[in-house]
Amino acid sequence: MGEKDNFFLLGADEFKSRLASAGFEKYRAAQVFDAVYKNKIFAPLEIPAIPQKLREWLLENFQFCAAEMVGKKQSGDETKKYLFELNDGNFVECVLLKAPTDDGGIRKTLCMSTQVGCACACKFCASALRGFVRNLTSAEIISQALPFIEETTAGGKKSRKFEFENIVVMGMGEPLINYQNLMPALSVFNSAEKFAFGARRITVSTCGIADKLEKLSEDGFPYRLAISLHGATDEVRGQIMPINSRFPLTRLLAAAEKFSKNCGRMITLEYILIENVNDSFEQARELAKIARRLHAHINLIPYNKVPALPWRRSDAGRRAAFAKILDGAGVSYTLRREKGSEIDAACGQLALKKSLGPQ
Ligand code: SF4
Repeated sequence: MGEKDNFFLLGADEFKSRLASAGFEKYRAAQVFDAVYKNKIFAPLEIPAIPQKLREWLLENFQFCAAEMVGKKQSGDETKKYLFELNDGNFVECVLLKAPTDDGGIRKTLCMSTQVGCACACKFCASALRGFVRNLTSAEIISQALPFIEETTAGGKKSRKFEFENIVVMGMGEPLINYQNLMPALSVFNSAEKFAFGARRITVSTCGIADKLEKLSEDGFPYRLAISLHGATDEVRGQIMPINSRFPLTRLLAAAEKFSKNCGRMITLEYILIENVNDSFEQARELAKIARRLHAHINLIPYNKVPALPWRRSDAGRRAAFAKILDGAGVSYTLRREKGSEIDAACGQLALKKSLGPQ
């Protein structure tokens, strides 16, 4: 038998006709879709109220999970990092982040990977150390979300839902280089007939692939966008992000401006503060100018030390002084707290998977 089709990538109509061709009643399609998408049952043999024969046909003909969770690591503040093994023996990571909300609750965000390794070679990045291995398939991207289910019981009725409310595509790899596999995967989460996740709850983070950004504006990309800037002039950015020589700031910022105008959405600029590299007051002033031009929000992130690399985190005083300049310039920014940053979800801030190992 050849490769099985991934269930999640089938539309409702296509699934219905596959079902009918196999001799099952068409109304069974809605039962299966409800069980999978509304009640988050991803094991065909556990789908209730359908004939056993149909369960076995689903199992035989469709793939539900293309990556197996094999390890877990928890930081002090309950943020968790997970290791997934792919069918070819490669590994990727994803992170479940918990952040307090203004109303005293907790917001959970899943940070997913899109490639094994990364070709962009950012100098401060753990993922880059291994170089590029391959793109993840759409099925492998989707599979990273599947284990994060919580079960609740209300009025004697059990229900299952995803444990996270937001998705950020900010893990290992550059998502826009794997655009062709990323978009079908995100549409499984966003589609009203599937997981129905609002587009505003999904963020894609790029290191600045300007030609792809231009394409996003034309395609009417519905999701939020974050750009890993990490340097506010070509000189500084070029020192730590080799992608800057291919897409210098003039081109990147023009593409970002076009995106923000065409898609009507505020961009987030990610800025990891690295001691004596990009944390000068001059950089803060230049960053403020960029943010004002793009009407962007800035996310300042304390650098997460990678053992094999020389870079260090800017100290708390420098981080506060840098933020004060942004404040004075009247731009919107967040200074991320230090706690839990060892597995923070900035692009490239995931540690090498080898350090995790099955636990
Ligand atoms: S920071 Fe992101 S884009 Fe840069 S090398 Fe790392 S994973 Fe790739």
